[in-house]
Amino acid sequence: MNFRVNLLIASVAFSILTMAAIAQQKDDYNTLLVINEYEWTVRLDFDNKLVKATCKVEVMNNANRSVKKLPFVLYRLLTVREVKSGGISLSFTQNIKSFEDQVRLQSNFIPVELNKPLQPNKSMTLELEYDGTLYGYTEVGWNYVKDKIDPNFTILRPDCMAYPELGYPSNKINKQFPKANFNYRVSITIPDSLIAVNGGSLVSANSVNGQTTFEFKNMERAWRMDIAIGKYGRLTDNGLTVYYFKQDSLGAKRVLAALQKTIRLYTNWWGPLNNFKGFSIIEIPDGFGSQADVTSILQSASAFKDSTEIHQAYHEISHLWNVDLKAPSPRWEEGLATFIEYLTIEKLEHREYLNYVTDWFLQVVRREVANDMRLKTVPMVDFGKHGMTDYSYSLGMIAFRILYQTLGDEKFNHSLRAFYKEYSGKEATTEDFIRITKRVSGKDMSAFFNDWFFTTGYIAHLERQSTFEEMVMIYR
Ligand SMILES: [Zn+2]
Repeated sequence: MNFRVNLLIASVAFSILTMAAIAQQKDDYNTLLVINEYEWTVRLDFDNKLVKATCKVEVMNNANRSVKKLPFVLYRLLTVREVKSGGISLSFTQNIKSFEDQVRLQSNFIPVELNKPLQPNKSMTLELEYDGTLYGYTEVGWNYVKDKIDPNFTILRPDCMAYPELGYPSNKINKQFPKANFNYRVSITIPDSLIAVNGGSLVSANSVNGQTTFEFKNMERAWRMDIAIGKYGRLTDNGLTVYYFKQDSLGAKRVLAALQKTIRLYTNWWGPLNNFKGFSIIEIPDGFGSQADVTSILQSASAFKDSTEIHQAYHEISHLWNVDLKAPSPRWEEGLATFIEYLTIEKLEHREYLNYVTDWFLQVVRREVANDMRLKTVPMVDFGKHGMTDYSYSLGMIAFRILYQTLGDEKFNHSLRAFYKEYSGKEATTEDFIRITKRVSGKDMSAFFNDWFFTTGYIAHLERQSTFEEMVMIYR
């Protein structure tokens, strides 16, 4: 055998080995699993600071191969007692593990062994029973995650991994899972003196022997479940609800009024909402971090004391008028919502804000382009596909403000109104939006959409034009 043949055999052998190694590695994890349904039953024991829960999950396998193990992560001080499927116990292991790429982040990692493999495109239901306590994640640097089982205020949420989610002790791998999108039913039992609230709808509240069980279900498919427990008051009007701490009852009235005004403004701009199911704001103490789900916001107390802190609600409420974009969604609706958030400050609070915030976002975008090589080649319409949605907020905000300045207030809103009217409840593409904009405004904006949506042409403008006004002039 000559040298060349040897080399050929060696390289073939090498590639077979590498392929085997890759296949082996692929077997180690599967990020094409999704949860379709959650049924979360929780009981809180404040005397012992304990949470006892069962979580019934329907897991779907979207991979093209079967799986034998389902991986879950759960808060580090929560212990799984039993895992069952169809009434039969399944074997599992559990270990507290540091995330491979974030050492201080520890979670309980629970691979569950299936009795028979879960086939591609099939789903199965598992029941995990667990208990333990919560003590936050401040050691990770997440200062807002100080979640505890405390009668003054308790919050159960994914930030503290209060319920099991599919995943591995690795941010890098977990990022590859599609964004959670599920239906849920939550049932929580707490002492009568307290009230549990959730961003979905309240199904029932039943009191037995000093304990009340609240049952909730989601209104729209959700990506997170939050339950807040405290001494809550409630204000409601036409599907809008504000849950507030009793000492902030005045602020709550202001918040509700702001919600009503926002809905009225957007209805004026973009037409009435189709099948509005409700929206709520849940007050949480300062320092616990505001968060938004599809039909609610966890809003820190500051917004109840200071009316200039309510802009996150503008952002979230504007999302109610979004049209679903065909998968993989470009996710530019985040840029639109961010722009609308600041536009609404100007319109409802009558204070100038847009110019200031535009300059700030321009700086952000310039810095992002300098720091992330991917931005040199990946255009905004592909951010969703590449897991780069974070950039949609900044770049998208600038892009939608340019569009707004170029079309003018009326034609801009009229385009959004026509887009919503034609596509709500259906799926649309970026091209559909462009077509409608052109039809409504009578203006051909294809140069703009090419520069900012379909290519990275905007980078040249960021380099050549120093001010926002100069950038707008290009398309006038
Ligand atoms: Zn958003």
